[in-house]
Amino acid sequence: MDFNYYIPTRILFGKGSLNDLHKQEMPGKKALIVTTGGTSVKKYGYLEKVQKQLEKAGVSHLLFDKILPNPIKDHVMEGAAVCKENGIDFVVGLGGGSSIDAAKAIAVMAANDGDYWDYVSGGSGKGLPVPNNPLPIIAITTTAGTGTEADPWTVTTKTETNEKIGFGYDKTFPMLAIVDPELMTTVPSRLTAYQGFDALFHSTEGYLNNTAYVMSDMFALKAIELIGKSLHKAVAEGDNMDARADVALANTLAGMVESTSSCTSEHSIAHAISAYHPDFVHGEALIAISKAYYSHFANTNQCEERMVQMAKALGKSDAKTAMDFVDALTELQKICGVDDIKMSSHGMKKEELKKYADNARATMGGLYAGDPVQLSDADVVKILEDSYK
Ligand SMILES: [Zn+2]
Repeated sequence: MDFNYYIPTRILFGKGSLNDLHKQEMPGKKALIVTTGGTSVKKYGYLEKVQKQLEKAGVSHLLFDKILPNPIKDHVMEGAAVCKENGIDFVVGLGGGSSIDAAKAIAVMAANDGDYWDYVSGGSGKGLPVPNNPLPIIAITTTAGTGTEADPWTVTTKTETNEKIGFGYDKTFPMLAIVDPELMTTVPSRLTAYQGFDALFHSTEGYLNNTAYVMSDMFALKAIELIGKSLHKAVAEGDNMDARADVALANTLAGMVESTSSCTSEHSIAHAISAYHPDFVHGEALIAISKAYYSHFANTNQCEERMVQMAKALGKSDAKTAMDFVDALTELQKICGVDDIKMSSHGMKKEELKKYADNARATMGGLYAGDPVQLSDADVVKILEDSYK
């Protein structure tokens, strides 16, 4: 029962909570708003709303809107240079996981010299300690997927070396997160499903993880339950506010799972796929390998009880075996319309699957230690082969 709990983020949750941003204590007078190169935060007026809220709080702002769906290191360095040139006090990540993750990485590099990869561990990262504290971070999430608003993690790709690696520590938690389900009603249904499954896997991986304990279990089981109850509704009816709120809460709770427990090798493998195929959306890559991945652990009979609990949380109340979780998972994928993902349509070749297994181990091998049963490279190749369509 010994544990060390730390989630220092103030979370404003609820429909319309963005309207309360100006009432919060701001960590400075000048902000950099970090968002994606896509159009949705502009088209739906979210950017303008955030700008007005900052102005109401007496904060001036600049915009950095280049972030890609899989954020790249070059943009982190560029955003950090904008902060340094303009005396930025804090960063605001606005959008999905990509924008908020990039905001965190920019906050680190805005306060430090050198290259971002000097501080990243894994792959060609140097893993050096970060000398100066990052700029404060405010996270305003417009999707329900990565949980990044309630965890310290940020994932960035170094394109030249096909390395997609997570980074984070106590200082990269957002100081404030706004989770307003109203901002999520415009997410298209397929992306809603991809993001919802990402949140689900943060919870299931955290629950199966060797590092799980009473607090992470509490967050994980509740998140799994909310996703089982409401994800398919949010996918089918984007403006169903109750369903959106359930999935938004599940996502934030899943971020708290990532802050208290950890992801497993499922994320390492999915990151390796997206590192080579940036068009493979993160949640989509996770879904693509999930059936084979969880079947592997079910077949080891080493985490039976935990998988039964996950199946029950997902809605299969009569679950008795680990495979019941795999069945509940595939059923949910079917009703959410995402059971048709093909690696081949993203250009992955069956004879090259070992490349992804090798990349996963080299770049994010650390997560393997949390697996409930240790995977060999041959196991990973087999999971990829079984997933291949
Ligand atoms: Zn994820």
